[in-house]
Amino acid sequence: MATTIEPRTTTTRVVDAKQGSVLLRDSQQNVRDAAETLEIGRSLFNLLDQPEREITVTLPVELDDGRVEAFTGYRVQHSRVLGPGKGGMRFHPDSDLDEVRGLAALMTWKCALLDLPFGGAKGGVVCDPSVLSTGELARITRAFANALTPMIGSREDVPAPDVNTDERMMAWFLDEYERRTGKHDPSVVTGKPIALGGIPGRGESTGRGVALITVAMLERQWIKPRNARVVIQGFGKVGSEAAKRLHELGVKVIGISDVSGGLYNPDGLDIPRIAQSIQCQPPKLLREYGGEDAQRISGEEMLSLECDVLIPAALEGVITAETAPQINAKIIVEGANGPTTAEGDRILDERGILVAPDILANAGGVVVSYFEWLQGLQGNRWTLDSVRTQLDARMRDAFEAVVSESERRKISLRQAAYVIAVERVARAVSLRWSPM
Ligand code: NAD
Repeated sequence: MATTIEPRTTTTRVVDAKQGSVLLRDSQQNVRDAAETLEIGRSLFNLLDQPEREITVTLPVELDDGRVEAFTGYRVQHSRVLGPGKGGMRFHPDSDLDEVRGLAALMTWKCALLDLPFGGAKGGVVCDPSVLSTGELARITRAFANALTPMIGSREDVPAPDVNTDERMMAWFLDEYERRTGKHDPSVVTGKPIALGGIPGRGESTGRGVALITVAMLERQWIKPRNARVVIQGFGKVGSEAAKRLHELGVKVIGISDVSGGLYNPDGLDIPRIAQSIQCQPPKLLREYGGEDAQRISGEEMLSLECDVLIPAALEGVITAETAPQINAKIIVEGANGPTTAEGDRILDERGILVAPDILANAGGVVVSYFEWLQGLQGNRWTLDSVRTQLDARMRDAFEAVVSESERRKISLRQAAYVIAVERVARAVSLRWSPM
């Protein structure tokens, strides 16, 4: 029977280009501000601002019912001046090229801030994993790996998981890449299962780093972590691990939410119990939690809860001109990438709310990805203890560097983080491009 190729107009594609453009616009503005502070000239700024390489691919994939659907995928390599491109790939119905461009640029600045030998890249496939079977997801992942093979590699560009992608998919991605190239190259992708060269502690790493920065921000404000109340939006890979770690450190997590709604207890939620309970009930959403120790609240109510720290750890663009005035927190720790728009940031600043920026706060994942990449290249094994010790040390160093740059120049933590990152990349670009 002949198969027919469906146009990209199925229910899996709901494009809201606006959000991606806002993220891109805001990240470019942050770089422009840093370039002004550093007195970087226009031609050098243009080299920092423009993505080095970007690709849009069409992935014809057979669905379980025999139809072939054409999915769209993107990979943007923003910069590879400091090392191979590094950045996750997300599967999301709203993914678009502007969003991927903005996220790729964030990766450049994040890796530079953490002093990792990586540039920045990002990928996305426009699809809705909630309506796709495991087999369909595997075929989309393999098709994406196939399409990207000519431009990725452990020394070229190293993908990883992001929103709606996980270690299973990294295993399919690695397998497809190695079949295509005929070479063993486990460092082509990070966030792999341990049996395929993954590293212990990768799953918890971003959340662990977010928790470390949360505690450091509290201490800087002279708030004892044991007296602090934290609210977390998003209970996925980042939000749930940050919640578990904060709970372990004795911090009260009073509110958590995911796409299905929120849970609230002013005396602190029993995070391990909630995490354990929803783990056994696919699709693992908070609405499945049956315990009576938590009140149900909406996502909007969550954002305005009175607390010491609010951690947006879901998607970008949630703290905006509309939502920033409602926020009732002293500190924001950005677990997600780009959760605060420039307008939202201005309002937070006017209201005296401190913000630990995404490129610092959620860098734990890429730090441990770096350890995993090294492990693959060196052919050795890291222990969980050494991963945690070295991750914590790198996060603490980056936090101290950002705080001292902010105090020295009297600028916000976000501006300070960008000044450090942009200066490192700019120095490398000018050394590469200086006339003989
Ligand atoms: P994930 O898919 O595992 O989790 C996303 C969570 O957000 C889910 O709990 C989902 O239900 C929730 N969510 C979605 N829409 C929501 C809404 N409207 N209100 C409340 N909750 C909502 O993704 P993740 O890996 O945890 O990534 C979250 C964010 O962190 C993204 O911005 C991602 O780019 C960023 N990030 C992730 C990593 C990583 O290592 N996974 C590293 C750095 C940054």
